[in-house]
Order: sequence, then structure tokens, then C-alpha cells
Amino acid sequence: MRKLITSALSVFMLSAGFAQERAILNHTHSKHVKLKSINMGDCHWTEGFWADKFKVAEESMIPYMRKVLTGDVGHALNNFKIAAGLKKGEHKGMRWHDGDFYKFMEAECYLYAQNKDKALLTELDGYIDIIKKAQAEDGYLQTQIQLNKDVDRYENRKYHEMYNSGHFLTTACIHYRTTGQRNMLDLAIKHANLLYTQFMPDNKLLGRFGFNQTQIMGLVELYRTTQDERYLKLAEKFINNRGKYKVTEVSTTVGYPIGDMVQERTPLRKSSEAVGHAVLALYYYAGAADVYAETGEQSLIDALDRLWYNVTEQKMYVTGALGQTHYGASTNRDKIEEGFIDKYMMPNLTAYNETCANVCNSMFSYRMLGLHGESKYADIMELVLYNSALSGISLDGEHYYYANPLRVIEGSRDYKKMNTEYPTRQPYLDCFCCPPNLVRTIAKVSGWAYSLAENGVAVNLYGGNKLETKMLDGSKLVLNQETQYPWEGAVKLTVEKAKRSAFDVMLRIPNWANGTKVMVNGKDAGVKVTAGEFATINRKWKKGDVVTIEFPMDVYFVEGHSRIEEVRNQVAVKRGPVVYCLESADLPKGAKIVDAYIKGDASALKAEYRPDFLGGVTAITGELLLRKDKSDAKMYNKVSKPTLQSYKTTLVPYFSWSNRNGGKESEMSVFLPVVW
Ligand SMILES: [Zn+2]
Repeated sequence: MRKLITSALSVFMLSAGFAQERAILNHTHSKHVKLKSINMGDCHWTEGFWADKFKVAEESMIPYMRKVLTGDVGHALNNFKIAAGLKKGEHKGMRWHDGDFYKFMEAECYLYAQNKDKALLTELDGYIDIIKKAQAEDGYLQTQIQLNKDVDRYENRKYHEMYNSGHFLTTACIHYRTTGQRNMLDLAIKHANLLYTQFMPDNKLLGRFGFNQTQIMGLVELYRTTQDERYLKLAEKFINNRGKYKVTEVSTTVGYPIGDMVQERTPLRKSSEAVGHAVLALYYYAGAADVYAETGEQSLIDALDRLWYNVTEQKMYVTGALGQTHYGASTNRDKIEEGFIDKYMMPNLTAYNETCANVCNSMFSYRMLGLHGESKYADIMELVLYNSALSGISLDGEHYYYANPLRVIEGSRDYKKMNTEYPTRQPYLDCFCCPPNLVRTIAKVSGWAYSLAENGVAVNLYGGNKLETKMLDGSKLVLNQETQYPWEGAVKLTVEKAKRSAFDVMLRIPNWANGTKVMVNGKDAGVKVTAGEFATINRKWKKGDVVTIEFPMDVYFVEGHSRIEEVRNQVAVKRGPVVYCLESADLPKGAKIVDAYIKGDASALKAEYRPDFLGGVTAITGELLLRKDKSDAKMYNKVSKPTLQSYKTTLVPYFSWSNRNGGKESEMSVFLPVVW
């Protein structure tokens, strides 16, 4: 009996010791996760695309954001200092500004996990000291309320208390996992305990309070950190509350659209359609996926499967972006902002596509990848990362876009009427949710690059890196990945250390990569290689084994579903996962982007890596056709066969657009009309 107990104990200790307790998502005890997260710091970029982007994050994006948020422009740290009694003044910035500061701190934690720069720890400790002083005795912490005498706690959901709370809890968990320090975690526990007493009991007013629901993800991660089940129960409660109460204006909802806008008309488990504000929706779905990972409730995953399909197959742009409109109505005719409208209704020029919504799409898909273990979810993560995420920040890492449309026509939009769309990239956005969201994502991509399967490892994202991790059985695994992906299709994976018994190496074959070749030690790997699936090689691996992958990197066209009227007879140009666009900088002076047509032969387009162009990108050159006689004198004009002139030019990656316009509005289009 004693022997049994001892061995049971040692198995437990083994599994806990080699678990994912330092991962972005701590899946150590998550029973319903097939592909578990690797620990932060297990994967380091060594060369190529993501190593370069990480370097920009380290040297420019994060230092610049630090200057902004801790200074008087961003004012975010000032708000905490004032609430802490360390400074005089008033709250400035949006109501969700605390949350945006936590996201910046989270980005610094990811940076620390990679570079172990002690100065970052000292800096974070300084912020945490201020936050501790700002926190009320009972755990409450919301500077937008604490510094506003006219508003009470939990008076109205529009003050974004749940959003700030969610980012507070998440950042505290990430800080604890990367540093081993409890100083922020202890504050977060105090805060979550207060949330539990406030929101766990049924209450007609507070029951509808969940809104911009990052608190669900934050509570699940806190549960995973502490194993205190109350946090999981509360996370689930926020899901159960949605759709439970009558959709009518009450005191806690005044001043912000109700119903589909905040996903409260239909209970999640009955939902089949993504509705309302795209960021609110995707944070909600991502949180629900975290809850499912712990509870395994079938109706929850069924709903998430339907919603993921609706999002990615019926409402998503070719860049992976989400949120078709700035303002409009849902299919239930609720007023909505910054979000979803009907399926296949995909305007290019007025597309909203908030950077946050795009990033949230990859966060939701990363969670679904873990739950189902299918590579199609990582395809979406990759699509977002290379296109509609990175488009939100300039190549120098210091200028931002909030909205990410697929076409820009000079003079077509009245920017004076808009609060989040701009003609050029901006050094600061009053609504600062997107920049830290994107920067924390760039800082953590290495943590998404691999996952751990029951007896193997999955390669989710490609990029030059070194992986030094422990598999789920505790055995050491060291892999070295060499590649210039996505600019080149060759990937070389070398096994540097592996256990003796056989295990799986799962290689994601992207959905665009028909004809991919996979070799082991120079010979055909002899496994099924299908675009859109993992190719799984099971064998006894040894030091020095080399897996080589050759992805086809030809330039190809993409057309939309026939129901997408906005792209009828137009194509987008892609190479690998990268979406290209045409910019006015590459057209003759005075030519309009809408007068450019593309010839219907993708094989005539040539791809060339240019190290000195746009920070080092593969550009595509070829001949376009320019129309010169288009009249817009009237809304409708008689037309006969137009004259088209050939013009040799360059297409650039969509993410790199608007970096050459010298502070002036420029034109751009992803979809181009095609002359077959
Ligand atoms: Zn945002």
C-alpha cells in the first residue's frame, strides 16, 4: 500500500514538475486540452522574420511605449500614481486605460522571459509598488472610478471595470510565471476575491455587467495559477449570465448599446453567429474556450465550434481581420459599433478591423488549437500574425493604426468625424487599446510556436528558433529550426536532444501549401502530407536527425466566395501566408488605386527578397494594367471598352503598407480587379 502511495505521489510530482506552469496558458491540469502550451522562454527566435520583429519589439516598440505610457502623453502610470496619492491631478485617458497599461506590463514580462534583463524586473516592481498603493483596502482597483467622484463602483458597465480587471489578473499570472514573484499575484488574488463576492450572487443589475469580458480569461488563468475553484466558477458564471436577462435598458447599461452589441441577446451555448463588437465577442469566445479546457462541457465546445466557423468562414477578411463596420446593425437589428454585420458582407474601404479584434482572432484560434489539436486553427493564427496584426504598427515600431481597412482611396473618408480612423499612422492613439495588445502579442509569439502533444511536439508556427523544452512525460527535447520563412519555403529542423523511445513530431502543413515535401535525413518521410493538416512523423529520434520541409512559395491569387459582392471579379495576391497589396507609392504620379487592374496570370508575377526595402521583405513585381479614362463625374456613367495601359510595378506585403508616405494619406488596395 505504501509503495502504491509513493509511486502515485511520484507520478503526481513528475507531472507537476514537468508541466506548463510557466506557459502563457497554464495547461498543467487542463483535462480537455490536446495540445498544451510550452513554457515561456522554452523557445527563442534565432534568425529570420520573428527574430527581427522581436528585436524591434525589444529595442523600439516597448521602449517607445514605456515613454508614452509612463509620461504625460499616455498618462497611464500617472493615473495609478494619482490614485496611490503619490501625485496630484485627475484621471486622463479612456476608461480602459488601466487595462492597456497592464497589457504593456504583460509585454515586458514576455520580453523578460526571453532576455532575462534584470532592469525589466526592477521596472515592473516599481509599477507594482505604485499599483499596490493605488489598490483599495478591499482589493478594488479602477483608477477611472477611484479618481471620479461622480461615479460609484459597478454603477455602469460602460466604465470597463471588467476589462481592466481581466488584464490585471492575466498580467499578474504572467508576471508570476515569468519571474516567480508573488508581488502582483497577491494583489490580483485580493482583487479577484472582491469580484467573487460582488458577481457570484445572482443580481439583476450586476448580472448584465460582464462586458468586454477579458475577466473570463483572467479568472481562468488565476484558477490555473492558484487552483482556487472559485475563480473558475466565477468565470463560468460570467458566461452563464450572458443571455439570461431581459435585454432592456437598466441603470447599469445606460449610455452604451445593448443586446447583440455586447453578445447578451443569445446565450453562448445557443449561439451560431458572431455578433456585435468584434473585440468584445472574441475575448468572450476566447474566455469560454479557457473555461471549456477545464470543464469539458460539450454544449460549450459545440457553440465555440459553430462560432469559430462563422467567424473564420463567413465574416473574416482575407487578412484574418475581423469587424466589418464601424457602425451598423446586427442581423437581429440591434445597433452595433466596431463589429460584425451580416455574413459575407465585406466592404473593403470602410472595413473597421480593429487591431485588437484581429489579435483576439488569433488568441481564440490558439485556444481552439489546444482544444482540438487540429492545424486549421494555427493557420488562422498565422494569417492574422503576418497580416492584420502587424499592419497595426509601423516598421519602426512607433506609429499605429487602430483600423485596418483593405482599401484606401484618398479623400473618400471624413476623418474629422472619426475617432479611431486616421489618414496616416499615429504616434499615439487616444484610445490606446490596440498598441499594447499587438506589442504583447509580438513579444510572445515564440510561446505559440510549438505545443506539446500526449507523446510528441507540434510545430505550429515556423521561424528560425531553438526549442529547449520538456515533453509531457518529463523527457528533454531540444530542436533547432533554421528557416527564412515566410520569405523562403525551406525549413530545417535538427534534433539536438530527444528521449530514446518513439514520439510524434507534428508539422503544420498550412492550408495554402499543396505539394509540400517532408523529408527525414534526406529521404521521404513516408507520412501523409496534406495542406491544412498536421503531418505526423512517429519514430525513434536521435541527436542529429534532420527534418526538412519544402513549402511551395509560388505567388497565387485568392478570390472570395460568390456571396461577397465587394470582391466580385477581383483577386488578392498571396505568397505563402503573406497577403500583398498595391500602394500609391508604386503607381505613377496622379494614378488612382481604383484604376489599377491585374492581369490574370499569377505565374507572371515575380517574387524577390529585398533586404533594404521596407525593413527586408519579399516584394512582388509584375505588370499591371492602368485605366486612364474612368470618369467619376456622375454616380453612373455610360461606358464602352476602356483603354488599359501596361505598367510595371511592385506589390508589397499588406502589413508593410503606409510606411513610405511621409505623413500624407496614401492609397492602397488588397483586392484588385482582374483582367483574365
Ligand atoms: Zn484596440
